[in-house]
Amino acid sequence: MSGETLQVYFLGTAGALPTPARNAPCIMVRRGSDTLLFDCGEGAQQQMMRARTGFTVDAVFVTHWHADHFLGIAGLVQTLSFTGRKDPLPIYGPAWVHEAVSAIRSLSRFTLRFPVSSVQMSHGSEIRFSGYTVSAFATDHGMESLGYVLAEDGRPGRFNREQAISLGVPPGPLFGRLQRGETVCIARDGESVHVSPDQVMGHPRPGRKIMYTGDTRPVHHRIRELAQNPDLLIHDATYDDSEKERAAEVFHATASEAGEAAATLHARTLALVHISSRYTTAAGHIRDAEKIFSGTVIAPSDLDMVEIPFREDGA
Ligand SMILES: [Zn+2]
Ligand SMILES: [Zn+2]
Repeated sequence: MSGETLQVYFLGTAGALPTPARNAPCIMVRRGSDTLLFDCGEGAQQQMMRARTGFTVDAVFVTHWHADHFLGIAGLVQTLSFTGRKDPLPIYGPAWVHEAVSAIRSLSRFTLRFPVSSVQMSHGSEIRFSGYTVSAFATDHGMESLGYVLAEDGRPGRFNREQAISLGVPPGPLFGRLQRGETVCIARDGESVHVSPDQVMGHPRPGRKIMYTGDTRPVHHRIRELAQNPDLLIHDATYDDSEKERAAEVFHATASEAGEAAATLHARTLALVHISSRYTTAAGHIRDAEKIFSGTVIAPSDLDMVEIPFREDGA
């Protein structure tokens, strides 16, 4: 539906090693009644408790099989089983997803009481949900790795009620039919006249878009077509700019590289995540990204929630 809320919970924003302030990577996206996890690092369950999100997860998308990005799944499925879940839980990820999920299933001698399935994704794979899609793009992390774009379907234009009335359409069920794209027939001055949706509906409005890179070197030049104009770009910013060479060596990005990606993709807001445990503050990261990107830059703390509004300007 067009009026769904879209919220992003930053449940874990650490890079590789957790710290007392930052947990292993885990991003929860809530859209209406759907809850998706993007990566699920160790300790994700307790972060869900702290953020009071509940455990009702509908799907997990894993960017790559480094342990900091998926160790939380084992504990989460055990808790879900223990609390009586019956619905299947699909786990999407790059190559090795079948092995990883099979290992998670057999790790403990508890009996899993609901199905946990594995679905392999690759560059261009797309999963359809009601009202939006999640598609994968290849990233550059020295191994099989993916980022994800959650893109809502476009919304119809705004209904012009006054215009409809001035054309002679009586308020009531015919309004709904016009809004659903149907042409309606009315009686005007003793004649039957057709009124079509394009006479009373504004321009279609784009849906919202969230992009999450996972761990990667910058790849924005390769994915410009897929991921233009994200409302929120969540980008690897393991290092600030004092560690440019180190970032390249270990297949991560610096804050200014994340800023460059945000500028190239025309993001509205850039969220810097996967902050290395060597930093006690991400203030330097924000400064470095802001040198390149003029939109909003944030470095969320764990448990921060960002709500994504609709773009009312139709941009
Ligand atoms: Zn990582
Ligand atoms: Zn990694």
